[in-house]
Amino acid sequence: MAAREPKKNPMPQQDAKVRAHNFDEVALGYTTELAKAESERCLNCKNKPCVSGCPVNIDIPEFISHIKNDDIEGAYEVISKSSSLPAVCGRVCPQEHQCEHECTLATKLKLEPVGIGRLERFTADYHRNNSKVKPEPPKQNGHKVAVIGAGPSGLTCAGDLARLGYAVTVYEALHTAGGVLVYGIPEFRLPKSIVAAEIETLKELGVEIMTDVVIGRTLTVDELFGQGFEAVFIGSGAGLPNFMKIPGESLCGVYSANEFLTRSNLMKAYLDDSQTPIMKGGKVAVTGGGNVAMDAARTALRLGAEKVYIVYRRSMEELPARKEEVEHAMEEGIEFIFLCAPVEILGYKNENDPRDPKNGFVRGMKCIKMELGEPDERGRRRPHEIPGSEFELDVDNVIIAIGTSPNPLIKNTTDGLDVNSHGCIIADENGVTSRENVFAGGDAVTGAATVISAMGAGKKAAAAIHRKLCAE
Ligand code: FAD
Ligand code: SF4
Repeated sequence: MAAREPKKNPMPQQDAKVRAHNFDEVALGYTTELAKAESERCLNCKNKPCVSGCPVNIDIPEFISHIKNDDIEGAYEVISKSSSLPAVCGRVCPQEHQCEHECTLATKLKLEPVGIGRLERFTADYHRNNSKVKPEPPKQNGHKVAVIGAGPSGLTCAGDLARLGYAVTVYEALHTAGGVLVYGIPEFRLPKSIVAAEIETLKELGVEIMTDVVIGRTLTVDELFGQGFEAVFIGSGAGLPNFMKIPGESLCGVYSANEFLTRSNLMKAYLDDSQTPIMKGGKVAVTGGGNVAMDAARTALRLGAEKVYIVYRRSMEELPARKEEVEHAMEEGIEFIFLCAPVEILGYKNENDPRDPKNGFVRGMKCIKMELGEPDERGRRRPHEIPGSEFELDVDNVIIAIGTSPNPLIKNTTDGLDVNSHGCIIADENGVTSRENVFAGGDAVTGAATVISAMGAGKKAAAAIHRKLCAE
């Protein structure tokens, strides 16, 4: 990954040495002056290439022109026509691959693109902190829809349907709504209060959120239809962690990133009196190179780890995580071991004392060095082991962040719902599944992807449900 030019109007952030020991948000947000200065960089291109890079097609030049004219509420209105979670997307979207990637300043003039994400975040935060206007509960249209999962896809679908007058009930398995936004992405990247505020807005629109309800256990999809719901949207995500299938994965001190982050974010495992304690020190290896790996590594550091490694089998060029998260992780002192794959997690065993409390705990990880070969079907160079290059990494904990899959529970309890070989629900671009009046979207359909693509899917499904229920 080539080093980036310094940003024209960088966003103020906490010092790396300080933030490595707290859970407060890293990036502090634009002041009005900085936002104005950044907005002045926009050329207001006639053909709006940035809009085509945004998965929900926010009219970017239009909202930026409102900021230029000191009309921040006007900017918010433009954004909210296309996005229901702008404070979230401004913070976590991979803008460098989306809108900012298409910005004329970068593509034609080879300059730093406009900080579209930073401006989106500024606009949404300004609105949240200043607007007193509450949404009017819409006039009911007499139709009832159930939504499974309170992540970005489910919440977006619920919000759009509620605005159209539907009575919407969201069923969420966990005790808190928000999906990955609350159980996965840590506070230092996305404060929970922001997600809570977005959820409050949905409740003001009349959306009912039932937590601690696992569809497929507490109730089935068929029972929801039996209760009078005319359509069901499945936005249950892809929360089932993948494992490496190497020896030692069941040792004490090995976590899936999903478990580790959920315990820290949702169960507050960092508190001394937590009911679900978590490791708080020692040396930690995180395997994987995506956003989840970065979040797990940086959380481990904040929980008090003395050393954190990210072990990734390809090189820096192929790291799938957002660039900013990689840069932040490096600044905070996380050590990246590239071209390296784990082959075994090593356990402690005291032959002389079977009651030694350290027995059964991780004492290290055996790794092998890799080299990159020919590109695979996705164009990424395939890693190959270098024979005889094994070495041991001295660690006390291992966090596995090599991807997730959809949980099969809903498929197994819903007759006629087709899934593909990866366990993802098969749905067309409008979320239509193989079951009559059952729609699906987000990670449950695509496998692990992004917040904005999940929101886009929720939006399309809401429109399709409306067509189905009200045009018939
Ligand atoms: P989810 O957010 O997974 O929500 C699904 C919800 O359904 C969950 O709340 C779950 O509890 C609930 N559920 C599941 N099964 C049932 C059931 N049977 N009954 C009732 N409820 C159920 N994307 C980005 O764009 N940028 C990032 O920086 C980024 N960082 C990430 C960091 C982490 C740690 C993780 C895990 C993901 C990250 N992602 C990021 C990916 C992004 O968060 C997901 O793509 C997105 O949240 C998917 O939304 P969703 O609504 O499909 O599913
Ligand atoms: Fe502005 Fe860049 Fe979009 Fe052009 S491409 S309108 S400069 S944000």
